[in-house]
Amino acid sequence: MLQFLRLLGIGGIGIIRMSGDKCFEILEKIFKPIKQENIENIKGYTMKYGHIVENEKIVDEVLVSYFKKPKSYTTENMCEINSHGGNVIVRKILEICLKNGAELAEPGEFTKRAFLNGRIDLLQAESVIDVINAKSEREAQTGIQQLEGALSKKINEIKNHIMEVMVNIEVSIDYPEYDVEEVTNQQIKEMISYVEKNLIQLEKTFDNGKIIREGIKIAIIGKPNAGKSSLLNAILQEDRAIVTEYEGTTRDTIEEFINLNGIPLKLIDTAGIREAKDEVEKIGIAKSKEIAKSADLVIAIIDATKNLTGEDLEILNFIKNKKSIILLNKMDLKCKINEEDEILKKYSNNILKISALNQKGLENLYNMITKMFNLNEINLDNEVIITNLRHKNLISKAIEATKTTKKSIEDNMTLDIISINIKYILEQLGNITGEFVSEEIINEIFARFCLGK
Ligand code: GDP
Repeated sequence: MLQFLRLLGIGGIGIIRMSGDKCFEILEKIFKPIKQENIENIKGYTMKYGHIVENEKIVDEVLVSYFKKPKSYTTENMCEINSHGGNVIVRKILEICLKNGAELAEPGEFTKRAFLNGRIDLLQAESVIDVINAKSEREAQTGIQQLEGALSKKINEIKNHIMEVMVNIEVSIDYPEYDVEEVTNQQIKEMISYVEKNLIQLEKTFDNGKIIREGIKIAIIGKPNAGKSSLLNAILQEDRAIVTEYEGTTRDTIEEFINLNGIPLKLIDTAGIREAKDEVEKIGIAKSKEIAKSADLVIAIIDATKNLTGEDLEILNFIKNKKSIILLNKMDLKCKINEEDEILKKYSNNILKISALNQKGLENLYNMITKMFNLNEINLDNEVIITNLRHKNLISKAIEATKTTKKSIEDNMTLDIISINIKYILEQLGNITGEFVSEEIINEIFARFCLGK
């Protein structure tokens, strides 16, 4: 059995981890505790003080933690040498370990072993990366929840539900002579509906997961003087963007974050979209288009005191097939366009009147955004959330498989064919938790880990 070890970070303390059958044997050769004790008598989860020595020379003063199998991170015998920090000492100790029979660990090696030795499933192992890479407390919380097995439990619950019916189907197929209770199409249908409903619910949480991680990117587009900067200012309630009565002042983009129900909204005010008159504006238009494309929500703002122009329509074309809101601005003045305008309705179902200048109608705008993204439903405390794209894709595949299964029942296919389709659902779910997953995928997942974890 190979030994693995790694150093973690540079700081006041350096940690070198070792895992594997020979870990205590190697440790004994290099570590002299102040109070000598036989390894058999040292309990797991204890620490000993002493020195790392090489050729009877003290290399460093250290504390060593002992973890005895199976109660360790990897389920193998493990130790962690806490030395003084900094590259020189840590590297020296690492070198001594290697000389005495240890081998360098790959990134994610420790967690991979925890998975291969069956302490955690693949899903939990992957959440370790999420916790380490989390950019916000909310995200870390979701990672921890997954590490604790909340999502695994949910997936297993769905799997067990399928298995209950599957066992009966298998018996009916393999031993038709036995008098097993016949599995009715109705039973299978009910099971599939339950599975499909639960999987769709899980799949939906991915969008929430993305919102929690990245927030909602909102592009504000509109022709010059429609009131983009005024809207941004009204939302931010401060004069960050420059408002002027001359056309085309917002040449580049302005980005601001605000919080709506604890969800970050990233607002991007783009340059006015119109026929390019000079290079700077050409860039501005291209940028508007690009930002509208990558935004989760596009707000098109229109000066309602004027009739719709070709320019307005050009802008409205950017919101087609996107989540969008049309704001009819300057409602404090006499308006020529209203929410009932048939042309506008062709571009978006969400049309609101506002006055950016007087900060009127903003509450309606917030309510609309909240509704469009179900922000009120995002409840991190109780919900199991999908945050990993690999899981999301497998869940989508499983949902597809439930649909195929349903169809095979409706088409009166034989039980064997139905059971093949059901097995495919199980396979996708098994790929999430890592039961059926290939070595290649496992290696790819763990390669994304940092060293020492
Ligand atoms: P942008 O070019 O789209 O960023 O437009 P601005 O925000 O710079 O606004 C252009 C002009 O319209 C400014 O003089 C604003 O004061 C004015 N304006 C913006 N919103 C309103 C509004 O709701 N009512 C009125 N009366 N004027 C507004």
